Amino acid sequence: MRPDSLLIDGSWRTARAGGGREIIDPCDASVAATVAEADAGDVDAAVAAAKAAFRGGEWSGMPTAQRVAVLEAVAVALQANRDEISHLETRDTGKTLAESEYDVDDSTAVYRYYAALAAQDAGRVVDTGRAGVDSRIVYEPVGVCGLITPWNYPLLQISWKIAPALAAGNTLVAKPSELTPLTTIRLFELLETALREAGAPSGVANLVLGGGVVGAALAAHPDVDLVSFTGGAASGKSVMTAAASTVKKVALELGGKNPNIVFEDADFETAVDFALTAAFLHSGQVCSAGSRLILHRSLHEPFVAELVRRAELIRVGRGLDKESETGALISAAHREKVERYIAGALAQGAALRCGGVRPSDEQLQAGFFLRPTVLDDCHAGMTVVREEVFGPVLTVETFETEDEAVELANDTPYGLAGAVWTTNEARAARVAGKLRLGTVWINDYHPYVPQAEWGGYKQSGTGRELGPSGLREYQETKHIWRTLDPKPQRWFSG
Ligand code: NAD
Repeated sequence: MRPDSLLIDGSWRTARAGGGREIIDPCDASVAATVAEADAGDVDAAVAAAKAAFRGGEWSGMPTAQRVAVLEAVAVALQANRDEISHLETRDTGKTLAESEYDVDDSTAVYRYYAALAAQDAGRVVDTGRAGVDSRIVYEPVGVCGLITPWNYPLLQISWKIAPALAAGNTLVAKPSELTPLTTIRLFELLETALREAGAPSGVANLVLGGGVVGAALAAHPDVDLVSFTGGAASGKSVMTAAASTVKKVALELGGKNPNIVFEDADFETAVDFALTAAFLHSGQVCSAGSRLILHRSLHEPFVAELVRRAELIRVGRGLDKESETGALISAAHREKVERYIAGALAQGAALRCGGVRPSDEQLQAGFFLRPTVLDDCHAGMTVVREEVFGPVLTVETFETEDEAVELANDTPYGLAGAVWTTNEARAARVAGKLRLGTVWINDYHPYVPQAEWGGYKQSGTGRELGPSGLREYQETKHIWRTLDPKPQRWFSG
């Protein structure tokens, strides 16, 4: 990986102050790469480049077809480099190669979706009910966008932001997680080529690297017009506060504590199967992970028994090993945090039904692995049920009535996603309507498509990514009123 890994005003640079950071492979703690570590001076330079590129008007004024060709070119380049990028994502995040391949394909789909959507987005004519008036709503880019992303889905999360931001004609400064910047750097190489070939000015897309200090500098910067942040609730609140100083537009995609409700009439085998995927995909490091299993009491014993039987069979291993079904946690510190949640849950009365330990396999000792963990006998008063653990930890609660299930599901400060399992259609519709969540799956878990909005209620965030709303986040709405044959109005008589 290149040491000159900041992209500012069209040129690859090292950090001004010479800073660097080692990127650690979570599967064996080896150094995967060393990249530049920016500081506030680099952020200033990147924002200045983005501002100049926006003010020039060449990019935002480019015909939409020409601008969206850049997104299409990125989609083609991602597919052409799919193997290399998936390997890089796995090395960086510790997730399995199959998951990284999905991420490259899903990212590709996002560029294609916004390329197509922007091409149709011509605004609208308003029916004013008055003669002699032409009234139109047009959508314009917001300006300079600061894009900040987390470590769990690096390529995908940044793509959810870059694609609509550029489709709308904005310029941008991106800052990926300091733990997993590698595929974002690779993406910017592809993006920079696509922009140059389209004749875009330098400075349309800039990349800075570093941690919270760099992110905070971007969020507070007076020349950033919009900040779109995906990450934890605490950092998101800081971003919102920083953005308030200049009344920036803010979009926040934060954490979740997502309920997975199973009624007694659900298809047993399918519900168990998806309860595993919901909780243990990417070792539970998924914002929408179904980490709270809410079971009808009559199902409790057989369901948990089957869940535990299958959880114990999950093959935890190195991401590049084709046999692995789930990979590592992102860092030693994060694994320790997850282990503290498990210990705390046991101290508060939870029953450990499986996991709670590091795998014994000799090959995995250097990496940050943890076995899938099922905690039974949980209740809403426990810290492990209330806080986002972001690891392979599933809590089990039980209910008797439909109202009780909804109450348990909604009893959280978060509201990102969740599922309901039942063969009773009326009940499914009722419960889906009562859940205070941005996404509800009925008899499924985790699917999403670029055409449908994604985002949270309550402290899971504000604003939406994906879908038409995902493009609107990056647009100002302007009303243009034109009187066709103007005459004096004589409101004042003099
Ligand atoms: P994090 O909040 O620690 O970091 C996220 C990003 O923000 C990183 O780039 C980090 O460097 C930066 N950052 C940290 N402090 C900042 C500050 N004060 N100002 C500006 N930037 C700052 O989160 P993480 O640990 O990287 O990611 C995990 C979290 O992300 C989880 O809570 C997860 O639920 C959430 N997440 C949400 C979604 C969603 O769609 N809602 C998707 C993925 C992850």
